[in-house]
Amino acid sequence: MFDTLEQARLSELHVTSDPETQLRAIIAIHNTRLGPALGGCRFIEYNSETDALNDVIRLAKGMSYKAALAGVPQGGGKAVILKPKQLNNRTQLFSSFGRFVNTLGGRYITAVDSGSHLNDMEVIAQQTNHVAGTRNDGGDPSPATALGVLEGIRSCVKSLYGRDRLKGVQIAIQGIGNVGYPLAEMLHAEGAQLTVTDIDQARLKQANHQLGATVVEPSEIYRVECDIFAPCGLGAVINDQTLPLLNCKAIAGSANNQLASDHHGALLQKRGILYAPDFIINAGGLIHVSLARRDVDASTIREKTLRIGHTIDTLLERAQAEGKATSDVANTMAEEILFAPSLPDRQNRDRDDKKESAA
Ligand code: NAD
Repeated sequence: MFDTLEQARLSELHVTSDPETQLRAIIAIHNTRLGPALGGCRFIEYNSETDALNDVIRLAKGMSYKAALAGVPQGGGKAVILKPKQLNNRTQLFSSFGRFVNTLGGRYITAVDSGSHLNDMEVIAQQTNHVAGTRNDGGDPSPATALGVLEGIRSCVKSLYGRDRLKGVQIAIQGIGNVGYPLAEMLHAEGAQLTVTDIDQARLKQANHQLGATVVEPSEIYRVECDIFAPCGLGAVINDQTLPLLNCKAIAGSANNQLASDHHGALLQKRGILYAPDFIINAGGLIHVSLARRDVDASTIREKTLRIGHTIDTLLERAQAEGKATSDVANTMAEEILFAPSLPDRQNRDRDDKKESAA
């Protein structure tokens, strides 16, 4: 276990079990250099405790990298609650989890993730202040995530064609849910041509009627000839099976962990497909959650979200200059912030913002 922790450069791991409420949870805090760790609480069944441990460590690390490049005064952390096969009382379990979060004194702030819901956050909020994204706290971050993805797509188009207008750009979206649908609406408003897929027939019908989107079967989306493929549904969609099928110039979407494994970033580079790394392009939701709970006004949050495009511009230029895969350069850029001897200017500024808003 310690090797895994050291390899991920994880700073803290907290484990609890409360048989009375069926709570079995792990909280991983990766890095708090830029601020308290913020990350969702996953509530799913795991095949083994080792799977849960690996998941929470990987996710906490991802949050550190995401926050560092989003320029928010937040560290990276994550929680997993091992979902029991038969749950007796959801409220009691999440109350118990809230008390667990509270024991960490604010070094970790929890939020919604796969399997947990807004209502669970309200239950947690009765036990601790260290919870984000409750009803009083900015609400659904998905539209902000979609806006960040839109700007990331614009950066890719700029890099490919030297223009930032999206009129006539062909975009294939996989998954038109909370992020994918508002993204499709914004792209349509800018004159992009959309192809969409989902397993939800009602949403597909809506996208076809409202946005004139062409609908394809889920298995067909990889082959669609397009400028941008936007995965907004599932993780690990860039893998050995799908990579040879891709018929796009760039990949830019909201899904977490799009690359099945690190080396798929290099394989995309080899195929000449631009990749906008997921943890940069999908940071709009994190920016929204982090700043809304500090009562930062909506226009400042929007401004910060639009800066995702600027970060992607910088990344694409650097990857091209260094001849490296964008996914590798993204990791390096985050590590330069997280592990540099002194904090770069922008991060210092953000920490100052935080002090002001806390004052
Ligand atoms: P969502 O559940 O609302 O949407 C996902 C959509 O994908 C759904 O409409 C679902 O029917 C569809 N889908 C499921 N299986 C599919 C398949 N096999 N083929 C095609 N479509 C399929 O989720 P969301 O909140 O829109 O998030 C989408 C992705 O973005 C997820 O990977 C999530 O982790 C990531 N993300 C979301 C946010 C956010 O603010 N919501 C922030 C960061 C990252």
